[in-house]
Amino acid sequence: MTRQTQATTPATSRPDYTLPASEAAFERACRVIPGGVNSPARAFGAVGGNPPFMKRAEGAYLWDIDGHQYIDYIGSWGPMILGHGNPQVLKSVSDTLYHGTSFGAPTEREAQIAELVASVVPSIEMCRFVSSGTEAAMSAVRLARGVTGRHKIVKMTGHYHGHVDSLLVQAGSAATTLGAPNSPGVTPGAVEDTLLCPYNDVESIKELFQLFPGQIAAVLLEPVAGNMGLVPPKPNYLEQLKEITEKTGTILMFDEVMTGFRLALGGAQELYGISPDLTALGKIIGGGLPAAAYGASKQVMAQVSPSGKVFQAGTLSGNPLAMAAGLETVRILKNTDPYDYLEKITGQLEEGLTRICRDQKVNARVQRVGSMITLFFNSDPIWNYEDAKRSDTALFGRFFWEMLARGVYLPCSQFEAAFVSVAHTPADISATIEAAQDALKAIFTN
Ligand SMILES: *Cc1c(COP(=O)(O)O)cnc(C)c1O
Repeated sequence: MTRQTQATTPATSRPDYTLPASEAAFERACRVIPGGVNSPARAFGAVGGNPPFMKRAEGAYLWDIDGHQYIDYIGSWGPMILGHGNPQVLKSVSDTLYHGTSFGAPTEREAQIAELVASVVPSIEMCRFVSSGTEAAMSAVRLARGVTGRHKIVKMTGHYHGHVDSLLVQAGSAATTLGAPNSPGVTPGAVEDTLLCPYNDVESIKELFQLFPGQIAAVLLEPVAGNMGLVPPKPNYLEQLKEITEKTGTILMFDEVMTGFRLALGGAQELYGISPDLTALGKIIGGGLPAAAYGASKQVMAQVSPSGKVFQAGTLSGNPLAMAAGLETVRILKNTDPYDYLEKITGQLEEGLTRICRDQKVNARVQRVGSMITLFFNSDPIWNYEDAKRSDTALFGRFFWEMLARGVYLPCSQFEAAFVSVAHTPADISATIEAAQDALKAIFTN
């Protein structure tokens, strides 16, 4: 955390890769913005050094203010599944723009996008739009508690649901550990009803239900974890969660802010055929503008104000520009069905990275579901946060910078998934694999 204010780029084996304009911009930003960034994931705390500042994006590429071009594997951390600057999305936003940017009154497009979401996400009949994934998760937890009249929630270690006070707990070694807050400013009271459980561990969750009978309002999880690097659910895990929650009258809540519209049009719930009781959506649903949503059956959603008693509101909720970008993005996904293509090219990336790591005898493994992928510097299978934390993060940091110097923009942490978009071509994938091979050579011969 402390090294963010220091304007130095870690050396790569490419001395021609320097970021003087970005360093100056960062120094300036650090004087007026904490750590120089408006979201910590953008700072390079986990890999050292300071971030390039971006100027422009198009398709699968980013350009920084120092004149470098990158193949982008962040896609704004998930939303840009169509690539940057999709012409139809841009047109829809610009057409909307000149009619006014916010009314604080209902517009027709809100029902259109809600209808579309309900028609493609299996468990959703109604949804409410908000402005961020954090807000969606926070509101969904309130609704789960309001509907069940219970207080406790179960959260998986290493899963991220935005910066909601009651969900800012991750650490805890034993299955049944009661959580300690993850951040100063979160009171013990805010997390006293949050129970922690390791992901992919059915026995631990059964234990929690035995310890707190009739008290658990909801079990929350990323059905496919993306915020500790990519970790898929074990076979039958989601089925068993569904069974346990159904039997105990507990709300099963899928946080599909990252996986929604990404792993399939209907998200992870479509891919795995498991319907949760409550779903949080975000990222892709705003098409690159700030929008998110939570949705469920009519019966559950009817409890949200003003039709029900669970309060939730937002000045910019359902914002016309965000709705235009989101509606067009989801429409294009529905009309073009790009999921086979995403599976194919991300599969090529997985294969290539696996091959070069094996050839160069690097302790690494690639984990992937659809167009979400992580290269872990750890040769053991990763099923939960404890496994993920055993990865070689120092090696990841070196690899990250060597890739950046070769024009490949990866997530700046071992514990984040990379995203492939429809705009990525097989040539982009080949170039990325070549860059990775070259980067590993540079690391292991230096
Ligand atoms: C990104 C993310 C969030 C938070 O969304 P914001 O829009 O950043 O508030 C919540 N849950 C998951 C699974 C996410 O990936």
